[in-house]
Amino acid sequence: MIRELLYSAARPKEMAALLKVKMASQLPKQEEALDVLAQTLSDRDFCYAALNKVSRSFAVVIQQLPQELRDPVCIFYLVLRGLDTVEDDMTIPAEKRVALLREFHAKCYDPNWNMENTGDSFDYRVLLQHFDKVNRTFLSLDMIYREVINEICYKMGNGMADFAEKKVESVADYDLYCHYVAGLVGHGLSGLFSASGYEDGSLRNELEISNSMGLFLQKTNIIRDYHEDLVANRSFWPVEIWGKYSPELNHFERYPHKKTSLAALNHMVTDALRHVPDVITYLRMLHNKDVFRFCAIPQVMAIATLAKVYNNPDVFTSNVKIRRGLAAKLMVYTKDMDAIYAAFRQFTFEILEKLDRNDPNYQLISQYLENISLATSELNFRPQLNKEQVLS
Ligand code: CA
Repeated sequence: MIRELLYSAARPKEMAALLKVKMASQLPKQEEALDVLAQTLSDRDFCYAALNKVSRSFAVVIQQLPQELRDPVCIFYLVLRGLDTVEDDMTIPAEKRVALLREFHAKCYDPNWNMENTGDSFDYRVLLQHFDKVNRTFLSLDMIYREVINEICYKMGNGMADFAEKKVESVADYDLYCHYVAGLVGHGLSGLFSASGYEDGSLRNELEISNSMGLFLQKTNIIRDYHEDLVANRSFWPVEIWGKYSPELNHFERYPHKKTSLAALNHMVTDALRHVPDVITYLRMLHNKDVFRFCAIPQVMAIATLAKVYNNPDVFTSNVKIRRGLAAKLMVYTKDMDAIYAAFRQFTFEILEKLDRNDPNYQLISQYLENISLATSELNFRPQLNKEQVLS
């Protein structure tokens, strides 16, 4: 905390925000290990304890949702975490892993199903070992929520299984993989928001822009995690993009300052920026202020991260993160569309200032930044016409 305060010392708004966020996020900390907690907690309490262990940041933001939505979103997260744990555990023989991914949605209806010795980390293993608790809590949800969660689990599991047998090579593959692991989360959340009545019933049908919400976040993580993923011997950067700049992906780590390395990185950022106008359109459709904040905060963090990683050689050798103070400020001030417009304008301006006319994607990224500035300027905002309207 002291270090973060020092980094933000010259920025009083960030200092104030850091302290505010620190106060607000004082979730009771469970010191005991998850396997010990599993012995005494009720099924539902175990779910929240597990959420707290596997993703503390998500456990904090979920507290901001309307009460009615917390359990469905918590269970949605844990079911998908279970699926992801299976996807990532390379010690399970491929054939068995693929079969399990395809069947996972059906296992969720079994109040006694769990799995021993699965997962790359202790908490994931305990989660899978006690998955019957997640399933029983899932079964206690209203049917409208269960249907949304299970449909997404079915589609994601099958998508992951498809990609267990092939690699991300083209940009189309990249978009499809990101759709399975993140775009579908967008679909599911829209479904849950609609089902709860806190948002319009029509939101669940906004598949394209819901998908973009997930893709923008996922692609930002994939770009930022270049080095971490390289070390772990995996990669999600599509060769159709990076192959234009180097014959080997690890070349960028060795020559982080080379023009071609930075051009590859900038190409990846350019590709991610294509989803921003959809993100703005989606956020504009939300009515409930808590749902809005839940959706909007990760999106402003993502654009801030892209502004930081654009043309930044450190991405190739380390884990680049935005200042905690900046993150806290975005968390505190992201309350309405005006804050969204301001944040997106500020970070696109930061990217604009870093542009180099000689970058091979200079024209394209300039166009995307222009589109974002149009989408974030209310004076220029015109509702998008759908096909019928254009034709009539
Ligand atoms: Ca995974």
